[in-house]
Amino acid sequence: MKDKELFKQILGLSHPWEVSKVDLDIANEEVEIEIIYKSKKGFCPECEVEYDIYDHREKRRWRHLDTCQMKTYIVCKVPRIKCKEHGVKTIKVPWAEKSSRTTLLFERFAIELLLASKNQSKTAQFLRISFDMLHHIMSKAVERGLSRRTEEDIKYIGIDEKSMKRGHTYVSVLSDSERRRVIDVSEGRTTSSASSLINKGLTEKQKEGLKAVSMDMWKAFIKAVQKELPNASIVHDKFHIMKYLNDGVDKTRREEARKLQKSNDKTLVKSKYLFLKNPENMTDKQLSRFRKIQELNLITSQAWAAKENFKEFFRSETINDAKFFFAEWYQDIKGRSLNKMIKVAKMLIAHSDGLLNYIRYQIDNSVAKWLNGKIQEIKTVGRGFRKFENFRIAILFFLGKLDLFPQESQ
Ligand SMILES: [Zn+2]
Repeated sequence: MKDKELFKQILGLSHPWEVSKVDLDIANEEVEIEIIYKSKKGFCPECEVEYDIYDHREKRRWRHLDTCQMKTYIVCKVPRIKCKEHGVKTIKVPWAEKSSRTTLLFERFAIELLLASKNQSKTAQFLRISFDMLHHIMSKAVERGLSRRTEEDIKYIGIDEKSMKRGHTYVSVLSDSERRRVIDVSEGRTTSSASSLINKGLTEKQKEGLKAVSMDMWKAFIKAVQKELPNASIVHDKFHIMKYLNDGVDKTRREEARKLQKSNDKTLVKSKYLFLKNPENMTDKQLSRFRKIQELNLITSQAWAAKENFKEFFRSETINDAKFFFAEWYQDIKGRSLNKMIKVAKMLIAHSDGLLNYIRYQIDNSVAKWLNGKIQEIKTVGRGFRKFENFRIAILFFLGKLDLFPQESQ
C-alpha cells in the first residue's frame, strides 16, 4: 500500500488519478506503475466540456525517470469521452503530453542532459532509450519552442549553405544575426529552398522590417532575397569574402606546387593548411617552414599576402575609403599577374554593392563564424547526418535559442 501512495506523491497525481499497482520486475530491472482513473466523468481535450466516460483505450506505457536505476514505466488505460462537437476523444493525462511515449519529467531530464552533453548518442545510451525515441523528444521540444516564438523585430539575418555530410547534400540555414540564433533550416540550396525558408521563418511584418541579409555570393540565394525581400540590402560579409580569397590562395598554391614538382621541387607539397592557417595559430615547426617558404617569394606567398592585405578593406571607415583601397589592391594583384586572385577580384567587383554594404551596415561578422563553427560541431558529434530532418532538428535544438521544455505537470 505504501509504495502506491509514494508513487502517487512522486508523480504529483491527484484525484481522480490513483496508483493502482506497482510491479517490480527484478530480473529485467523494471518498475511498472499502473494508474487508474477513478471517476465516471472526464473533460473533452478540445473544448474542456465535461462528459461521461465513454470507454477506455488499450493499455499504454510511458517511460518515466528511473527508480533506483530501474527503468520505470507508467501504464494506464486512458478513458475516452464522446464529445458532441469533437467526437470520441482520449482525455488528457497529467503526466505526459498528447501522443508522447515518455512522461513530462522524463522529457525534461532528457532535454537537460542533451543541452549539457550536446551529444545525442551518449544521451540515448545514458537514458537507455533508442536513438529514435530521443529524436522524437527533440522534435517535440523544437516544435514546442518554435510555436512559442514571438514576432520580434529582426533587422539583420544571414543565409548560409552548409553541407550535411561529405559529398553534395546541402541545407540552407537562416539565422538572426543580432540574437545569434538559427531561425530555421531547409533542404537544398536552390532559389526555391531559400525562398521557402525565408517565408517559413519570417512573418510578413518581420520581412518588411528587415534591413540587410548577409551571405556569400551564391547566385541562388541572391535571387531568392531579391524576390522575397526586395527592401533588404544584400551584404557580402567578411567571413564569406575571406573564404573566397582563401580559395584563391589555395588554387594558386596547387597550380604552383604542380609546376615545382615537375622539376622535382617539393617546397609546396602538403602545404595546404600552412597557407590557410593563421600564423598565430601555427606550431613552431609549421611557422619555421612557413617562413622559409615566404623567403622564396613564390607566387603562392604573394597571393597569400594579397589575401592578408585585403583584411584592411573591412576596416574602412567610409565607402570612399573602401573603394579607394579596393582599386589600389586590385592594381597591385594585376601588376603581379596573380591570376587566381584576379579571378576572385573580378567576382568581388561584380558584387561590389554587397561588398560595400558590409562597410555601410557594419554587420557583426562573428555571427557567421560562430554559426559555421557550431554547425560543424553538431556534425562532428553526430558523425554526419543522413536524414535532413534529423540535421534540422539538431540545429534548431542546439542553436535555435528555443524554449524547449514542456510545461510541468499540473
Ligand atoms: Zn469537445
